[in-house]
Amino acid sequence: MREQYFDKMLYGGDYNPEQWPKDIWEEDMRMFNEAHINSATINVFSWARLQPSENEYDFSELDAVIERLAKEDMEIVLGTSTAAIPAWMCRKFPDVTRVDFEGRKHKFGHRHNHCPNSPSFKRFASELVHRLAQRYSGHPNLKIWHISNEYSGECYCEQCEKAFRVWVKDKYETIEVVNEAWNMSFWGHTLYEFDDIVVPNYLGDGIHDTAAAFAGLSIDYRRFNSDSLLNNFKMERDIIRLYDKETPTTTNLMGTYKGLDYFKWAKEMDIVSWDNYPSYNTPLSHTAMNHDLMRGLKGGESFMLMEQTPSQQNWQPYNALKRPGKMRVQSYQSIAHGADSIQFFQLRRSKGAVEKFHGAVIEHAGHSNTRVYREVMELGRELKRLGDDLIGAETKARVGILFDWDNYWALEYTSGPSVALRYVDQIQRYYDACYSRHVDIDMLHMDSKFSKYDIVLAPVLYMVKEGVSEKIDAFVSQGGTFLTTYMSGIVDQSDNVHLGGYPGPLRETLGIWVEEIDALAPGTTNILATEAALFSQGRYKCEMLCDLVHLESAEMVVAYNSDFYKGMPAVTKNRFGSGEAWYVGTVPEQTMLNELIAHILTEKEIETFDDVPEGVEIASRVKGEKTFYFIMNHRNDVQQFHSSFKGCTDVLTNQKVSDKIQLEPFDVKLLVKK
Ligand SMILES: [Zn+2]
Repeated sequence: MREQYFDKMLYGGDYNPEQWPKDIWEEDMRMFNEAHINSATINVFSWARLQPSENEYDFSELDAVIERLAKEDMEIVLGTSTAAIPAWMCRKFPDVTRVDFEGRKHKFGHRHNHCPNSPSFKRFASELVHRLAQRYSGHPNLKIWHISNEYSGECYCEQCEKAFRVWVKDKYETIEVVNEAWNMSFWGHTLYEFDDIVVPNYLGDGIHDTAAAFAGLSIDYRRFNSDSLLNNFKMERDIIRLYDKETPTTTNLMGTYKGLDYFKWAKEMDIVSWDNYPSYNTPLSHTAMNHDLMRGLKGGESFMLMEQTPSQQNWQPYNALKRPGKMRVQSYQSIAHGADSIQFFQLRRSKGAVEKFHGAVIEHAGHSNTRVYREVMELGRELKRLGDDLIGAETKARVGILFDWDNYWALEYTSGPSVALRYVDQIQRYYDACYSRHVDIDMLHMDSKFSKYDIVLAPVLYMVKEGVSEKIDAFVSQGGTFLTTYMSGIVDQSDNVHLGGYPGPLRETLGIWVEEIDALAPGTTNILATEAALFSQGRYKCEMLCDLVHLESAEMVVAYNSDFYKGMPAVTKNRFGSGEAWYVGTVPEQTMLNELIAHILTEKEIETFDDVPEGVEIASRVKGEKTFYFIMNHRNDVQQFHSSFKGCTDVLTNQKVSDKIQLEPFDVKLLVKK
């Protein structure tokens, strides 16, 4: 049963009043109220002030901030401040800083900079969190505990190396099993004892972020590093729980960030939150997929949008302003995909350091007479009016797409067949094919319940771990439609090939086997010949990879039309039990992929919206008897289309819509069907 943490949408963001004199706080409070801001995220990077030296703590300023916010009855998202370590700690306890991939020991500087296995870090972080939890638990305005911030990065120091050996021993038990798992007979790498294990950075068997001499070892190190940071999170959470049994905990995640297995992390968090920073050229569908992934982490539970900029970022190469209306439509896009909060980074803009050009609700001008502030205020008014209408609403997706960090790591460590192969890009292509038809999608994990879905897509399911193929078999044989692609079914959990022909354990379900994989150089293509009625054209291009596929029980749907494998199948379909399993053996142009997926959606009678103009997005959430349709124009021009929404009420304007929908630039309609 899902928990309901909010009775209204949290609207606010990061607030760092310690950077400002106290008389400014009064003006802040006035402006927050005027903009309908009802929450503040505080104490995210305050360790240096809370603990100015090893044995000295000072909570007076934090007390004052909390007291001031409480006076306005603001909901408080309380950080634990452990994401940036104080200078004195680095000076006196050098084990707290990291060693990087190149083997360089880091000094004091930056943030997200602690070694997750440092005894000093763990000691000081736990002492700080004990004090924070003891002091502020039970405070009536404390809404969420925000542990650390944007956990990320890796450490390759000697204490991590020692901890890794323990982790490996727990997993494999004997060194012989480790040798087998990592295939260490290759290049005479046989390990004789656990102390022979070295961290896979540049000084060992690492090559760089996307190449490794021994992928099994490097994948295990990623798992270990993700677990190490997760242990830091769990340590703080467990301390909080000693004092506070109820207030939910979170930490802000970062979409498809590669370094951490977020599905594993989400199991330890009460509520998922994430930071959404699309660039000026980020495809809309990528942001949508990120939201869906964040909602998928806890099996469809709504999440918090912890950070977005109201206007501008500072860390991208070209930091475009969000055009008037764009922040609003992006906020609704978050809500449409499952957000129960809209929070900004940040409420008042820093006067110095790296984020001084990062947008904020209160700009450097310092007053409310700004475009950005007015837009924040307008959205605040609208969200206040919506109240709890959308809180906890669900997405009723019938299509699921598998996303798996083990696969992400393994596929990108693989040397060959093509450096162009990137995990998220390939998942995105299939997401886009559904998104182009405005179909709601759940992002799934290997443990998700496949039987809830009509269609499960598993692009580049390169690593098939134990039990996965059995799950897929059961799903298809009971009537589900499954689709996978090139680079699937190839290796086991340790990156060793499933021998006997690709796609290994998926071979029978798919009714094919793959003999070879051709990699096409950039700019070169093969041609696909389609005869099936499901495509609008007879010829399409394909690129990057071409599997040489042999049919077993499957039928050919599309064939290659050039090179020595002309006539061989490129796309196949297999009846298996009462379901169907599709295999796409190459990277077809997106138009063809969209048509293929549209065909599968139609076969399963899934609601799609066709003839919707480019740049308009439709997504839905369901609460009780009501289905809310979000119709969002992400473009800076007027868009019109005919729809089946005639007679629905736009709850933002209280007007009924006709069969013709007209959207102003960056406009949003929130239609409700009972
Ligand atoms: Zn370390």
